[in-house]
Amino acid sequence: MNKKQIEELKKKLEESRSSLRSTLEKFAEEDTKPEGDWDTRFPDFKGGLEESADEVEEYSSLLPVEHALEIKLKKVNEALEKIENEDYGKCEKCKEDISYERLLILPETKVCKRCN
Ligand SMILES: [Zn+2]
Repeated sequence: MNKKQIEELKKKLEESRSSLRSTLEKFAEEDTKPEGDWDTRFPDFKGGLEESADEVEEYSSLLPVEHALEIKLKKVNEALEKIENEDYGKCEKCKEDISYERLLILPETKVCKRCN
């Protein structure tokens, strides 16, 4: 990959990071320790009993979403770190270069198509 291609992927990763963060911020608080951990806000029970049940249900349904976003955000951050360390675009399993075409679709991936 040349510098321009890496810049392009870096831009994609940064965009994806800010959109993931803003989605998470809508319903979760960032946990400062451990870093990169987010907690879904538990609803406060100001409504009646029936309303509270709905809120608890909503809370439970948000947890897996939060988890998935958190994992993706972590991968995005790790990829950005690798760009900083000039270690980006290598498969973690076979150490071969990951193709630019694959990175364009999945810039946060850590493995090549073969090892996936
Ligand atoms: Zn590989």
